[in-house]
Amino acid sequence: MPHPQPDALTAPFWEACGQERLEVSACADCGHRFLPPGPCCTRCWSPRLAPVEVSGRGRVFSFAVYRRTYHPGMPAPYVVALVELDEGPRLISNIVGCAPEGVAIGMPVELRFERAGEFNLPRFAPAGEGGGRP
Ligand SMILES: [Zn+2]
Repeated sequence: MPHPQPDALTAPFWEACGQERLEVSACADCGHRFLPPGPCCTRCWSPRLAPVEVSGRGRVFSFAVYRRTYHPGMPAPYVVALVELDEGPRLISNIVGCAPEGVAIGMPVELRFERAGEFNLPRFAPAGEGGGRP
């Protein structure tokens, strides 16, 4: 499976994932929260950023079912989704824990880390009863 390739801006994100925490960038000036990590706020351009942990709960904003295998480490079919976190930021991930046919726009999902080599990959599964984590 292809692994992440952290750089100076994204290394803290992957280190947090390694500790099973999902973090987003938060602006100290306007409060905007966003992903992926960057050098400045995507709303006000402030360079004063700090990571904040988020709940890992969100909804499927959009998705596609991949029915062709492009890498032997990721056999088709699988779902690539844009997940909108409850806290606002969106990230591209995979929906796991259900058949591709079970994925729908607006579906509540929750974070599920999956190990890949030395990385914890943030993926999402259908939210449990009540939409909360155990
Ligand atoms: Zn800002």
